[in-house]
Amino acid sequence: MVTACFCCRGRSQRKGMVDIRAVLVRFMQGQFKDRRLRILGIETTCDETAAAVVALKPDGGGEILANEVMSQIAEHAAFGGVVPEIAARAHIDVLDRLVTRALTYANVRLSELDGIAGAAGPGLIGGVIVGLTTAKALALAAHRPFIAVNHLEGHALTARLTDNIDFPYLLLLVSGGHTQLVAVRGVGDYRRIGSTVDDAVGEAFDKVAKMLGLGYPGGPAVEREALKGDPMRFDLPRPMLARQKPDFSFSGLKTAVRLEAERCMPLSPTDVADLCASFQAAVVDTLVDRLRAGLRRFTQEVGACKAVVVAGGVGANGAIRSALQRFCGEAGLRLVVPPPALCTDNGAMIAWAGLERLRLGLTDDLTFPARPRWPLDADGEAAHHGKA
Ligand code: ADP
Ligand code: MG
Repeated sequence: MVTACFCCRGRSQRKGMVDIRAVLVRFMQGQFKDRRLRILGIETTCDETAAAVVALKPDGGGEILANEVMSQIAEHAAFGGVVPEIAARAHIDVLDRLVTRALTYANVRLSELDGIAGAAGPGLIGGVIVGLTTAKALALAAHRPFIAVNHLEGHALTARLTDNIDFPYLLLLVSGGHTQLVAVRGVGDYRRIGSTVDDAVGEAFDKVAKMLGLGYPGGPAVEREALKGDPMRFDLPRPMLARQKPDFSFSGLKTAVRLEAERCMPLSPTDVADLCASFQAAVVDTLVDRLRAGLRRFTQEVGACKAVVVAGGVGANGAIRSALQRFCGEAGLRLVVPPPALCTDNGAMIAWAGLERLRLGLTDDLTFPARPRWPLDADGEAAHHGKA
């Protein structure tokens, strides 16, 4: 029988389900010494359907045993952006096959898993419900612990999976839905020190691509065009430059691109390439400047920063990666940018975050709700407003 725990939003142990303490005790007693903790992770918060199995290595790092991702780009391309209803239905169509494939490649049976993690938000509610319900159903059927993972926590902890880095570090999260600077102090211990006041940076890439007729998703197309263009031709704004508060803004920059594009109509291929190069250069300058402000804030509020970590699809951009590398090199900071497949949405980051939580005994109730808005930090949770 399932019991609800509304006072702690479901983050509690549930009667009648497998006892996480029993799993941990067996782990400590060495009963798992011939095999490692293995977690299945499911991600369906936006336009990628993903299932992965991750294992805990003896050195505390993670090993990805399977990482199955099916992007819905083709389904949404005609609409120039993600259509929530189409996304939810597409997740339903493929998720069971992806889970089966992930288990097969990882060579693990459902009953052999140590836990099942599902992204419970933030994201598009229809899609979140598909993945979350699947994860809960599998946990219930297999009598395994269930872990509700915040999608942003998945991004925040990925660098520990790939590079086994220590807390604390500064996370620059740059995706289609989020642009944030987060101080990562420990599992479940986050402090958002800056975020966008309007568009996310990936959203700006997508909107610029759409206005220039480059299709969806915009980021890779804008980057390709930018390689051929002149970044100095258009004098575009660098929003928030030199502001103390480490926030971001991309709406004005996007509008400036639109105005320049309208002045050039009809656009030649050179105009398009130059607009993309000028836009990307403005984004690069803005991100580096905002990271500088974020590091100052981090040092004041958290202490010495051990590393800067980049996550989110925009982290796949070569020009952005090189600029951040240069900046961190000059500042004597370690920069960790997970490989592009682990920067964009994936199941491995959900499995890994689930594993980090499971090791601390943090499991969840099957009543845990799907949360379209779910701020990572306690302050954002308390304020409970704005983009999560
Ligand atoms: P979301 O959670 O919003 O789906 P993802 O982490 O999956 O975000 O990343 C998708 C976003 O990343 C899109 O906005 C896309 O345009 C952007 N993106 C992907 N590749 C690049 C790139 N090479 N340059 C800039 N932006 C990129
Ligand atoms: Mg995505």
